[in-house]
Amino acid sequence: MSRKIAIFDTTLRDGEQSPGASMNTEEKLIVARQLIRLGVDVIEAGFPISSPGDFRSVQEVGQLAGDSCVVAAFCRARTEDIDRAAEALITAKRPRIVTGLGVSAIHLNDKLHMTEDECVACATEAVKHARSLVDDVEFFAEDAGRADVDFLVRVVQAAVDAGATVINLADTTGYCMVDEWGKKVKAVATQVKGIENVTLSVHTHNDLGLATALALEGVRNGATQVECTINGLGERAGNSALEEVVMAIKMHGDALDAHTDIKTTEIMRTSRLVSRVTGMTVQANKSIVGANAFAHSSGIHQDGVLKARATYEIMDPASVGAVGSEIILSARSGRAALRHRLDDLGYSFADDEFEAIYDLFIEMADQKKEVYDEDLESIIQERQRDVAAVYTLNALQIQCGDPLVPTAVATITDEVGVKHVVSATGTGPVDAAYKAIDRVVAVHGDLAEFAVKAITRGIDAIGEVTVRVTADDGMIYTGRGADNDIIVSSAKAYVNAINRMIQTSRSRDGR
Ligand code: MN
Repeated sequence: MSRKIAIFDTTLRDGEQSPGASMNTEEKLIVARQLIRLGVDVIEAGFPISSPGDFRSVQEVGQLAGDSCVVAAFCRARTEDIDRAAEALITAKRPRIVTGLGVSAIHLNDKLHMTEDECVACATEAVKHARSLVDDVEFFAEDAGRADVDFLVRVVQAAVDAGATVINLADTTGYCMVDEWGKKVKAVATQVKGIENVTLSVHTHNDLGLATALALEGVRNGATQVECTINGLGERAGNSALEEVVMAIKMHGDALDAHTDIKTTEIMRTSRLVSRVTGMTVQANKSIVGANAFAHSSGIHQDGVLKARATYEIMDPASVGAVGSEIILSARSGRAALRHRLDDLGYSFADDEFEAIYDLFIEMADQKKEVYDEDLESIIQERQRDVAAVYTLNALQIQCGDPLVPTAVATITDEVGVKHVVSATGTGPVDAAYKAIDRVVAVHGDLAEFAVKAITRGIDAIGEVTVRVTADDGMIYTGRGADNDIIVSSAKAYVNAINRMIQTSRSRDGR
């Protein structure tokens, strides 16, 4: 049997650090539920001391996960961080504290102002303290990619001696060349005494487009855990993408002497879900999960694929769940068929919630006749957005054309239930709608990006709008809205971004 490679998903921690990709607790739970279906071994759910919202997310993901996977909480190598992480992990059946610090000269000198000896002492103390609180402690060596290899071995030795159960080597800045990184991992794997009794992990970034290659090189040189994110989300250019690492290990398992327990047919759905929840669009030519990942356009390629798929296709699209379902629902499908389809898609709802979704489904089916899986997912996400809303858009009436002055009349309910009817004119229908909304909401944001996309096929498809709004403090918030009418989608997306802005500032304040 080949080596089992544990998949440590950090979409909810490192991934969420992408500008504009922040998620509230409810959204993190939606993603966590799907990560569990996907079969990840570890979910890093947040950084508890960083905000009350992150604390709550770790707590609730811990509760949700039960026995199904390890739930990890990130912290710096500081007592107060570690204590807070342990507190948040009380609900978890399989808790892990992830703690560590920078180990490169540049981090020690310019960020931490520590000597090497102080760094070793700090690592030892942090791991010991964490081990006094939980049994599973991961020590991360930040910026290991630029660290001196002898010092790296020394600090890892100290962490292992202090009781770390997992050692994570991070190329935090995505700096390394592949062979150089492999040598570093190998040095730790062969020189640290007792390393065979702990899990060796790699955490790589994509600044040079090498994140997946670095992760695989880590595996080749002794790592048995890989840290990654869905769609490669993460700081700057992102982390290694789970779907790439997993499919490369699946395809080259023999050469790597490795396998994972990921249910690969769930990959596509997970990718779509994370993209929807965070508002971070996946580029069409993205490996594995991009819209064009299995599309063949040149005549020569099409001819080859028609004769034998393997001529130009190294994997079966079905193996990553990239084939559309042939099951199409309509207004005549009824409750049982809808429930069955939702079940297959991985959703289960209490009766009253199901009724609310059924009503939305019927409303959609009346308008567009054929309802695809993607439509159902959009209904569910719209519904989940509504439930958590501060402001809700109840109605929008637009008048526009040439030579009319674009005018919007909006009805918006605030969280205490007061209905506001407001109107505004603008340079176009979207501008008029946004100006009307601005008259009600108590915060200010500047529209930085606006994109509209059809969710499914056909002229009657649902139009989904994604907006990015910059708040006065420079933070970016993503909003999404879906409707048959793209002006309504646009207004919903804007209200959604405003809601996120307000919820984030409240969670920061601990309300
Ligand atoms: Mn990172």
